Amino acid sequence: MKEIRLAARPVGWPTAETFEIAEAPVPEPGPGQVLIRNVYISVDPYMRGRMNDVKSYMPPFKIGEPLDGGAVGEVVASNAESVPVGAYVVHALGWREFAVVDAARARVVDPAAAPTLSAYLGLLGMTGLTAYVGLLDIAQFREGDTVFVSGAAGAVGSVVGQIARLRGAKRVIGSAGSAEKVRHLTADLGFDAAFDYKQAPVREQLKAAAPDGVDVYFDNVGGDHLEAAISTMNKYGRIAMCGAIAQYNDVTAPSAPRNLASTIGKEINLRGFLVGNHSHRMPEFIAEVGGWLREGRLTARETVVDGLENAPEAFLGLLRGENTGKMVVKVG
Ligand code: NDP
Repeated sequence: MKEIRLAARPVGWPTAETFEIAEAPVPEPGPGQVLIRNVYISVDPYMRGRMNDVKSYMPPFKIGEPLDGGAVGEVVASNAESVPVGAYVVHALGWREFAVVDAARARVVDPAAAPTLSAYLGLLGMTGLTAYVGLLDIAQFREGDTVFVSGAAGAVGSVVGQIARLRGAKRVIGSAGSAEKVRHLTADLGFDAAFDYKQAPVREQLKAAAPDGVDVYFDNVGGDHLEAAISTMNKYGRIAMCGAIAQYNDVTAPSAPRNLASTIGKEINLRGFLVGNHSHRMPEFIAEVGGWLREGRLTARETVVDGLENAPEAFLGLLRGENTGKMVVKVG
């Protein structure tokens, strides 16, 4: 079977040489384990951090060993009654064609309850939950808030904006990296305003889009986006620190935000979070977001790359902004 390994640690931007496509034997499940044929694997920005040899909230990938990450697949052999052959499961051993996991670490999902199986990696999975928890629990969103989200056409951002709209935001503003993404935000996802951050300074464009200021900023980008949000923020604003993708490939310390001290006078609450520590919110999240999905009140585009061998290119494409909505790879 094919698997994708880390060939070399990137300095700055990763390249095709960062990855190795290798052959490995199909593993055998032991007692209490299942063998899964992966159908979709998740492609996520946080993987860039794991390519560095630094201590973080997740261990670094090892050179010469397969990468891992979220995946959804079909159980093809089982030594566990709770997870029978034919079940579809979400688990954490992506980036390979077949995976063996303990049954306790495989979450059974219903393919009929989702528009596509891949939705369990995006809208109804990790990135959807990130949007839900970040907006409602971390940023303490309230009806009538004006919300700004960066990376708004991506997996997390596109769901943040729609939850804010459906929960009664006064105004939802998004930033993204192309004219087509900006159009998608306002025309398809119901954002009130959107702008292309590559066309003019974020601070200017955000001020124009939010004449009454911003109450909640959901930060996927960091840097000049965070600086602009702080300067546009209303008193007692709340910022969910979700990601900082603008600096994941940087080799020097970020030059923005330069105005962090103004959060004191505005009494702004900035709070970071890791979705992995909020899985207890899964039932409420699935009930509410799944309900909106069934009623057709919320939608989520996906960017699907075909073939495990193209997963490295999908990852590089994610960092370059080639995805709209969740980036996944269809394995076989
Ligand atoms: P996305 O689907 O948003 O894909 C990444 C996007 O980032 C690209 O499409 C690109 O869109 C944008 N981007 C790339 N470089 C830059 C840049 N320099 N400035 C601005 N935008 C850029 O990924 P996810 O939705 O999966 O993740 C979004 C963020 O959330 C990431 O920062 C990620 O690390 C974080 N995250 C955090 C979690 C947590 O638990 N805290 C969990 C999951 C994700 P564009 O064309 O608009 O530039």
